[in-house]
Amino acid sequence: MKVVETIADMKRLRLRLTEPVGLVPTMGYLHEGHLSLVKQAKTENSSVVVSIFVNPTQFGLQEDFKHYPRDTQRDLTMLEKGKTDIVFMPAVTEMYPAQFNSWIEVGKVTERLEGASRLGHFRGVATVVAKLFNIVEPTRAYFGQKDAQQVITIKKMVADLNMNLEVVTVPTVREPDGLAMSSRNIYLNPKERQAAVVLYQSLTLAHKLWSQGEKNAERIRQELVALIKKQPLADIDYISIADNETLDELDTVKPPALVSLAVRIGKTRLIDNVVLE
Ligand code: AMP
Repeated sequence: MKVVETIADMKRLRLRLTEPVGLVPTMGYLHEGHLSLVKQAKTENSSVVVSIFVNPTQFGLQEDFKHYPRDTQRDLTMLEKGKTDIVFMPAVTEMYPAQFNSWIEVGKVTERLEGASRLGHFRGVATVVAKLFNIVEPTRAYFGQKDAQQVITIKKMVADLNMNLEVVTVPTVREPDGLAMSSRNIYLNPKERQAAVVLYQSLTLAHKLWSQGEKNAERIRQELVALIKKQPLADIDYISIADNETLDELDTVKPPALVSLAVRIGKTRLIDNVVLE
């Protein structure tokens, strides 16, 4: 496994990789969710590149960029076991030199949900992912369903800008009690960690109501609100039931529909989703 920090080295080593090449973009502090992306990339490609880059441009001013958890040594040990070929971990100045001044704006699908709560977030995500695609030139790139709006945004960017790769979505990996794995779960104290299971419980409830025949999105949303409100440590940011491609909010649930939510548990903002299909 080679670890490279400059774009020039990454491009040079890329030329020697055997095709096809899978790319797994991450912000590090890896967990089993990230590793399942790496595993799938390894199954479907001859070579795998994992990037570790905490991308400052996707964090809002009030967000946790400075304090985002980082542990490079641990990450590299985990990747070593997963047979990654190249780890690309550039410094912020390597990706954004002082004169950097170009941005990618993906339209409507970025406006609601995470885009509305985190202004500029998807502009930062799309820009850094486009840079990674140009640097690594992967055959396929792997993203987690956990960040559903992110995958939808990347797929839209790739289609609209005719980028020459396939975007693969990987299912969400969960803790035994259902909590979606996330680098931010480390912020939760033991009481909050227990309370955080309410996200998964409410998504499970949405799935149950829908499979029992409930098609009225507002009624499902109200049931979820009622369940989450019973948890005193939880504070709802949004609950959405939307078309899984356009992200248009639905009155009547028509599969595939994306039930997604953002909930603050104490100071930590968690997101999760389920697709009704
Ligand atoms: P991050 O490091 O949080 O930017 O995540 C890097 C990639 O891993 C993104 O494509 C995420 O959607 C994906 N990911 C994060 N958590 C999970 C999870 N629990 N299951 C599957 N994929 C995940």
